[in-house]
Amino acid sequence: MSREETRKILESENILPRSRFGQNFLVDDDAISRITALVDADREDPVLEIGPGLGALTKPLSALYDHLSAVEIDSDLYSYLVNEAKVSATLINKDFLKLAAEDYSADKIRYVVSNLPYYCMTPIMKKLFGECTNAKRMVLMTEDEAFPRISADPNNKDYGPLAVCVSLFGDTVKEFTVPGQCFYPVPKTLSCVITLNRGEEASVLCPEFIGFVEKCFAMRRKKLMNNLKPYYPADILNKVIEDKDMRAEDLTPVEFSRLYSDIISMISEK
Ligand code: SAM
Repeated sequence: MSREETRKILESENILPRSRFGQNFLVDDDAISRITALVDADREDPVLEIGPGLGALTKPLSALYDHLSAVEIDSDLYSYLVNEAKVSATLINKDFLKLAAEDYSADKIRYVVSNLPYYCMTPIMKKLFGECTNAKRMVLMTEDEAFPRISADPNNKDYGPLAVCVSLFGDTVKEFTVPGQCFYPVPKTLSCVITLNRGEEASVLCPEFIGFVEKCFAMRRKKLMNNLKPYYPADILNKVIEDKDMRAEDLTPVEFSRLYSDIISMISEK
């Protein structure tokens, strides 16, 4: 999908790109084919795209996969995809962040692909981690400047719930960067494509675990004990948190996973 084609479609559909929905459409065939190739699913695998836009990725993906679904918040783009582009995918016209897991069969999804709307990258990624519990790989375009927050290690200022979830999901690869000229309209920042490949620790990821990690980080400079006190019995916290001075940023992702399992199993034994 070239810049010219994209502009023509927008003009003929009378659509202006909406910055409030993070609409920067991919107009570079090389980037489009590299992203499509990274998905690397089998024809029968359920594939989910967030934010299909004008279908730059959806069109090639729909030729490769029989069970492609795509969630688009913008009704004008949704109408274009359904009525004009006639993309062979299950299209859902909803805000992904408000979509119930059962309404997109989250547990069946094996592959996720998205040129993410940058304004809500973090909540979208957390929702995917919490609900797509059988996802094998995610291919995501993000702002390059967000990558430190995605891949941060403990005791780093960028380390937080997102980096914990990404690390527990599995292996993260920064595949390539994408300059602004590959989009219409041209964004101010550089973008990058990452792949996240499921590993052994991913099974801990669920909305409750993600909520737990968020509670741990609620007040970054507060001790872990104090952040968790309002939510869990003090005797359990005293048993499971050995170092009472510890802060969330000191814990590795695997330690978060163990701490959560310990708390949950002690609560269920009570
Ligand atoms: N996939 C297209 C491409 O690569 O050209 C468009 C990518 S554009 C960066 C982000 C897309 O996500 C837009 O189509 C936008 O309308 C859509 N979007 C933004 N917020 C959304 C949300 N909360 N739920 C679903 N789609 C959303």
